[in-house]
Amino acid sequence: MEPLVKTIKSLGDKRATLEFPEERQSLDDTERYMMRLDMDTCVSCSACARICPNKTIRMVETVRKAGTKVMPEIGIDRCLFCGMCEEVCPTKCLTLTKGYDLEATDKRKFVKRPEDLRG
Ligand code: SF4
Ligand code: SF4
Repeated sequence: MEPLVKTIKSLGDKRATLEFPEERQSLDDTERYMMRLDMDTCVSCSACARICPNKTIRMVETVRKAGTKVMPEIGIDRCLFCGMCEEVCPTKCLTLTKGYDLEATDKRKFVKRPEDLRG
């Protein structure tokens, strides 16, 4: 009987979960997730890859109008969202955003090529 009473009482409780993606959690000013890359202003310096504490960034070749250029590819599944790559970037072309739609059923989808990071 006691579990039934508890269940009935809990019917009026505020929901603890959200109906994602229709409902979104509000984020603090300090929370930042998915990166955005401006491919035009990246100078291929690799500073982001060198500073990444979890070795999450790999420099890969990307085809551009003027030829090929190396730019960061990021393994989001290993990212700590620490922001060090953004901080060190000399042209501020790599930035963390409020985007947190990172769910995927295929682990290969967590590897974001420069083209995927254009935002
Ligand atoms: S946020 Fe941190 S862990 Fe993620 S890619 Fe940038 S430096 Fe690496
Ligand atoms: S994203 Fe910024 S730090 Fe990384 S290679 Fe490009 S210019 Fe350098």
